[in-house]
Amino acid sequence: MPIMDEPAKCALERVRIVLCRPNHPGNIGSAARAMKNMGLADLWLVEPRRFPAPEAEWLATGAADLLASARVCARLTDALAECVAAYAVSARPREWSLEVLAARDAAGRVLNDAANGVVALVFGNESAGLTNDEMLACQRLVHIPANPAFSSLNLAQAVQVLSYELRVAAGLGSVAQAPGLPLATVADMEGLYAHLDQASLASGFQDPARPGRLRDRWRRLFSRTRLEREEVNILRGLLKALLRRNSNGQ
Ligand code: SAH
Repeated sequence: MPIMDEPAKCALERVRIVLCRPNHPGNIGSAARAMKNMGLADLWLVEPRRFPAPEAEWLATGAADLLASARVCARLTDALAECVAAYAVSARPREWSLEVLAARDAAGRVLNDAANGVVALVFGNESAGLTNDEMLACQRLVHIPANPAFSSLNLAQAVQVLSYELRVAAGLGSVAQAPGLPLATVADMEGLYAHLDQASLASGFQDPARPGRLRDRWRRLFSRTRLEREEVNILRGLLKALLRRNSNGQ
């Protein structure tokens, strides 16, 4: 990984995902996978109904290491003890009297807080969400904007959305492009234009007495694309072969 990404990576590693009383071990596995996909690693489980469990392993696939290092505790306060901030993640934001952050806005704030230490995102249980006490153990509330008539996401998918937003907020949201082949230079392009001119005159396509706007049109045409040097060579090779034929009188 390039050195430039290191601070962002460190900030992501200081974000803790806390699942409160998860019912389905499969969701724990999927959450672990979502986290590892996005570069998070610190998973805590408060009173999971069943863990470890084969369903968690199956759904975690390549993120089994996160399950192995997941911490299980009896109370939310244990998971939050060393954190400098905690964000409750809730499908029901109206029950919160303080400011509610949308997932995208929350991500930036979480990372800012993570500059000072570990920051927790606290998720509720599948059937009942977070209790009031769990919510009040946090300082802010985060909601993933969704269809108001059906706004409750699957637990692991909610973890996925937040983890992705954190990754984007950390500046790791772009895709590296494969290095392209060398582009044609201005001199290469001028060579091509001269060659086109020569071929169009030799073939009789262009009347030397009335050149019209043909030359301008080629320039416009090729300016709309970014030719590689190799592509210019192919076109010039073709023109050369046609000119050779023409001069041989074939
Ligand atoms: N039935 C529960 C929701 C359970 S979904 C309820 O009404 O609260 C399990 C957990 O996923 C939630 O506690 C929350 O942490 C997260 N979640 C699901 N949908 C969400 C949303 N739209 N915004 C934020 N968190 C969400």
